[in-house]
Formats: sequence, C-alpha cells, structure tokens
Amino acid sequence: MCECIKQMDDALEAHNGKLSVGFGVTQDMGLVMRLMIGTEKIDKTKRKPVPYVYAAFCPFCGESMTSDKRLPHVVTPSAETGSAT
Ligand SMILES: [Zn+2]
Repeated sequence: MCECIKQMDDALEAHNGKLSVGFGVTQDMGLVMRLMIGTEKIDKTKRKPVPYVYAAFCPFCGESMTSDKRLPHVVTPSAETGSAT
C-alpha cells in the first residue's frame, strides 16, 4: 500500500487533523485500512445513520487500497453503536 495517507496525516497533524480511516476484515480475518469518504444526511431530521463509504483506490496516487476486492465499499453502521459491523 502507498504512503499517501501517512504523508497527508503528517501534513494535517500541524493543523490538529488527520484523514478518516476505517478497517475492513478480510476473508482470512486480516485487517486492512481503508480511507473513508465523507457522507452526510440529505434529510437531517431522520435519525438513521448514513452508511460508511470507503475508497477502493487511493485518491492521491490511484493505487489500490486493498488486494481483497470482496470488501464492501458501503458499510451500514449498526443502529445502537454507530460503528461499522
Ligand atoms: Zn496513494
């Protein structure tokens, strides 16, 4: 995997920021880091959280973010915790 996320985090650190990342579980129970794409509610009066959306390719250099193509790009958060399941 490329170093773009680390380089961006290093640049954002001076501004108290970092990129949003999530972790996907592969079929062999390994973990892969994936860059999250920002989402927001269209109708903000609805309480149900918006699914998480992950980038399949690095938006900075185009390299594949994971060798496991079976990982979903959209993950629905659980209603109770708001975390990815
Ligand atoms: Zn990259």
